[in-house]
Amino acid sequence: MQQRVTQALAGRFDRRAEVVARAPGRVNLIGEHTDYNQGLVMPCAIDRETVVAGAAREDGVLRVASLDLEDEASLDLASLRRRGDWSDYLAAAAWSLQQAGHSVAGADLVVTSSLPRGSGLSSSAALGVAVMQTLAALSELPLSMREIADLVWHGECDFVGVGCGILDPYASALGRAGHALRIDCRDRSVVEVPLSERATFLIAQSGVPRALAEGRYKERVAECEDALEKAKGAALVAESAESLRALASTALPALEAVLDPAAFRRVRHVLTENDRVEEFAAAFANGELANAGDVLQRGMRSLRDDYQVSVPELDALCEIADAHPACHGSRLTGAGWGGCTVHLVDPDGADAVSDAIEAGFAAAFGRSAEVAKVRASAGASLLPVAGVSAA
Ligand code: ADP
Ligand code: MG
Repeated sequence: MQQRVTQALAGRFDRRAEVVARAPGRVNLIGEHTDYNQGLVMPCAIDRETVVAGAAREDGVLRVASLDLEDEASLDLASLRRRGDWSDYLAAAAWSLQQAGHSVAGADLVVTSSLPRGSGLSSSAALGVAVMQTLAALSELPLSMREIADLVWHGECDFVGVGCGILDPYASALGRAGHALRIDCRDRSVVEVPLSERATFLIAQSGVPRALAEGRYKERVAECEDALEKAKGAALVAESAESLRALASTALPALEAVLDPAAFRRVRHVLTENDRVEEFAAAFANGELANAGDVLQRGMRSLRDDYQVSVPELDALCEIADAHPACHGSRLTGAGWGGCTVHLVDPDGADAVSDAIEAGFAAAFGRSAEVAKVRASAGASLLPVAGVSAA
């Protein structure tokens, strides 16, 4: 991919690459719908990534090309505005740097990716992180990966206008090979959690478009906010509490008495999901893959029955995989209502589980579900460019 982008930069824009950067996608292993409740999440970066090659320009213009979309755009850094297409993610990276007071040089950029777009593996954050790293290096801005992650998040939220958590850019920027990240969305602290060498993950695409997901997602966010207000009204939590994170799962019996049944189920998911993040990390610390798989299965049941964000295709993918002896546990990953599932499998049986998922899904739904094996991989980095130091 590195060669493709540098060659395309030469072919399309007649420029020699000065900087090449890569940033991976991610899968959230456990901790779903907890981010906007200031809770815990645990993603890992995966071995699918976006690569960007860039060369600086003197004229304040950002010329960008995506080899995957076979499209080009030219953006004026002095008046960045939303265009409503893929180039918004690149403009957002430049805009966010400007908002933080940095002076951004013009550039020619070419991008390509091995990530599917729009299927929940965070191709958008990978694009943002890879582009921002490239722009920062070309403009000689000494930014840490942590700063890049925060600025990419700001750009995707406030320029592109996607209501998203810090999970995606943090995982892409800060991931570490063989590790998951325990991210606390309240204080933004990040702890690297070692995964067992035998931990292998499969990701299955349900192929269900998340067309209606946005409205339902907002509904869940509002339900959590309402439940917090009710908990305050019943003096179960301090008036100053900002989110459901102020409540522990030990408060559930008292909450059940003051919330209506549906609201209670939403809150029960959020509070027990925070616990499951800790349990998942503990299972790996003790080398108990079967226990980690059990945590995933309980997380799935909670998403299906309490948070009610699953669909039959996601249920089926998990049930089919979990019936295989080489699968430790499965759950839907991402917001739900479509997208993908993640499965913790034994490395020796990974191909057999993958085949079983494909066959079982095709039998049930009459179409194929794509299954990929992924590894917990290193976060974003600059790649060495011939004749240029990648410090
Ligand atoms: P996800 O992040 O789950 O893949 P999103 O809808 O958040 O899904 O982001 C997908 C969008 O990101 C695409 O529609 C496109 O606008 C942009 N994008 C991601 N990767 C690329 C790429 N390689 N080339 C051009 N645009 C891309
Ligand atoms: Mg995204």
